[in-house]
Amino acid sequence: MSPEFKLIYDYFCQAQKPDEALILGIGDDCALIENSAHLAQAISIDTSIADRHFPADADPFYIGARALNISLSDLAAMGAKPRWFTLALSLPAIDHAWLTAFSQGLFDAANKAGIILIGGDTTKSSVLSISIQVQGEVDPLLALKRSGAQIGDSIYVSGDLGLAAAGWFNYQQKNYSEPFYSAYLNPQAQLNLGQKLLSIANACIDISDGLLADLGHILKASQCGAQIDCSLIPIQTLLAHFELNQALPWALYGGDDYQLCFTSSLSSQQLAEQNIAATKIGKIVKGTGCSMINLPDDILLTQQGFDHFYESPV
Ligand code: ADP
Ligand code: MG
Repeated sequence: MSPEFKLIYDYFCQAQKPDEALILGIGDDCALIENSAHLAQAISIDTSIADRHFPADADPFYIGARALNISLSDLAAMGAKPRWFTLALSLPAIDHAWLTAFSQGLFDAANKAGIILIGGDTTKSSVLSISIQVQGEVDPLLALKRSGAQIGDSIYVSGDLGLAAAGWFNYQQKNYSEPFYSAYLNPQAQLNLGQKLLSIANACIDISDGLLADLGHILKASQCGAQIDCSLIPIQTLLAHFELNQALPWALYGGDDYQLCFTSSLSSQQLAEQNIAATKIGKIVKGTGCSMINLPDDILLTQQGFDHFYESPV
């Protein structure tokens, strides 16, 4: 278990008084709380810290849009419809030009997602930090949990993987070429896909820390294993610009893609018939952990996913 999850487990997974409205607590992309006969409120919070989760010198429009989208991504992973959010902002100084662009990016992303800002907190701090709590609604019987994967399910991912890792690699070299720059600094929560998957996926997670790390959460929660076929990982866009031995590890371990990884008993063709664009990358099997086939010989897979307690910045 990573230091981050051990800390959460040791200190914050404490037995408290039972709450009859609580459907799902700590351990998934969102908590679920019953709010009417048919709907559950899906709630999640994420913090973005300058020079840890995004470059402090990035375009403030993207800092605002990105901070909201990475929180919205947890609603997407549950299949929830966005409704309200709160914003806790810690700022080193009041810079009106920065705040104008930041708020434009934030509200641009909010208006696209159909979510409204209802409150927050603002304070001064030596480090720029943005915490956004999002709330959405979902049918509790259909909500996409990490725990529902079934033996024999196919494993799918949306979009191309590893683009954000390539974007970060390029950014460090002052290379702002697309589509990598936008994939890293302006990720889009897969909200429509999440809601389409409600009666289709058995388990789902958003890829925030890297495919293998996040798929690992599905496997643990569902008590099963996976077999991934490396030749199926969607890295075509990366391969047009980078070598396979750089591209494949980015796709498997690079964080920040905010695509969805889900399992379903439906075939690729059945998904296509329902207008769901996703790539099959493997299958759910008995056992634990993830085995890989068709891994090129010269690619050594030793990395972990993004570790929030890793000592150096992103
Ligand atoms: P995600 O990557 O989907 O945002 P995380 O990996 O951050 O999820 O967290 C895993 C689970 O642990 C989530 O259910 C989250 O709500 C919970 N969690 C994380 N930090 C804390 C904390 N300090 N106190 C209580 N629960 C926490
Ligand atoms: Mg998540």
